[in-house]
Amino acid sequence: MEQIAENLKNFLQNVPAEIRLIAVSKRQPEEKLWEAYRWGHKIFGENLVQELVRKKDIFPTDIEWHMIGHLQKNKVKYLVPFIHCIHSVDSLDLLKEINKRAGKINRPISCLFEVHIAQEASKSGIIPDDLKHLLEENPLSQFPFVKIKGLMGMATNTDDTEQIRKEFHSLRQLRDELKQTFFAGNAEFKELSMGMSGDYQIAIDEGATMIRVGTTIFGKRLTK
Ligand SMILES: *Cc1c(COP(=O)(O)O)cnc(C)c1O
Repeated sequence: MEQIAENLKNFLQNVPAEIRLIAVSKRQPEEKLWEAYRWGHKIFGENLVQELVRKKDIFPTDIEWHMIGHLQKNKVKYLVPFIHCIHSVDSLDLLKEINKRAGKINRPISCLFEVHIAQEASKSGIIPDDLKHLLEENPLSQFPFVKIKGLMGMATNTDDTEQIRKEFHSLRQLRDELKQTFFAGNAEFKELSMGMSGDYQIAIDEGATMIRVGTTIFGKRLTK
């Protein structure tokens, strides 16, 4: 069996079947993606628009591509024709741009709000109070081409597992709170995209519905 296929098989043995694995293929050689694809894995995550578009053009069209990295407004137009889900919506401006570009081609786009849950200032995302404020001021009915499916978050990069657990727990609580308020009656709003190679087990314990795992499956990334 090929190495990546074996990694995937072993990895998925310990992941509940209802959790979706986004195989994070950023800066991985194409051959490794092919191995995953041939084995039957068809959900990939990338964090750079240029690389994502390049790979999309090379690989078969039955792959679900997920954008997990920070997204600049001026690049939205390149993604809307094919992207399966944008995990990194972190501003009203971005929301507006996705809606506008998706509307032009009449293709609603699934999105997650990226929420800042980590202690590090460097981690991106919108802080919970700002997200609630955004939702109060801007009913999502204004954005018919954006389908908000849930929340995404990244925990602090630390060995302190209790800290990580607390952060994932807070994301789950926020999802539950939003589900009862701004998303009441919206069955589509349910996703929690959280957990990477170092912390996915904690994320699963805390209710992740999608995990984004790269190096555990594909090995070390190429340097830029
Ligand atoms: C790179 C990346 C991942 C995967 O990280 P690994 O540690 O390789 O599993 C997950 N989420 C985001 C947002 C990333 O940028």
